[in-house]
Amino acid sequence: MKKIRLATIWLDGCSGCHMSILDMDAKLIEIAQFVDVVYSPYVDTKEFPKDVDLTIIEGALSTDHDLEMIRKIRANSKYIIGLGDCAITGNISAMKNLFGSEAVLERSYGELSDINTSGGYPCKIVPKLLDKVLPLHEVIKVDYFLPGCPTPSEAIYEMLKALIEGREIDMSAYTRFGK
Ligand code: SF4
Repeated sequence: MKKIRLATIWLDGCSGCHMSILDMDAKLIEIAQFVDVVYSPYVDTKEFPKDVDLTIIEGALSTDHDLEMIRKIRANSKYIIGLGDCAITGNISAMKNLFGSEAVLERSYGELSDINTSGGYPCKIVPKLLDKVLPLHEVIKVDYFLPGCPTPSEAIYEMLKALIEGREIDMSAYTRFGK
């Protein structure tokens, strides 16, 4: 059986949803028989590869780099799972939408800074913040949604198992927003 080329990425998220993937514990060994992890924070791959079968995305879109990445991922992924409430609604990541990017930068690099940044924000090398944090589906087509904060590991396992076996699954029994 050909292995599924699997990628995972976290954008503007806290990594909690990636911790949930690891929380599958021993079931990871079962899943690993059927997948090759070709890109992920768990492996040392620098470039997002071509011909990925399934990409799991944690986090919302907050920067110009996130937009660039998400378009590249969509172009090279057969299926995409939005993992967790940040990816699906913006959730915690989108709280800055209440204030705007300028206010957030001023708070971080001005008011709360331990050193004198002379009123300058990081603007070279680091990605530029978008004016508004966006959930994934506002920019790309998302094939599957796995809500939760974080998404329960059991839900990730059941979803992956169903995809590996090529069957449909109703995830409503396994997930809920904000859990
Ligand atoms: S949904 Fe919750 S656990 Fe997942 S990345 Fe967002 S804040 Fe973290």
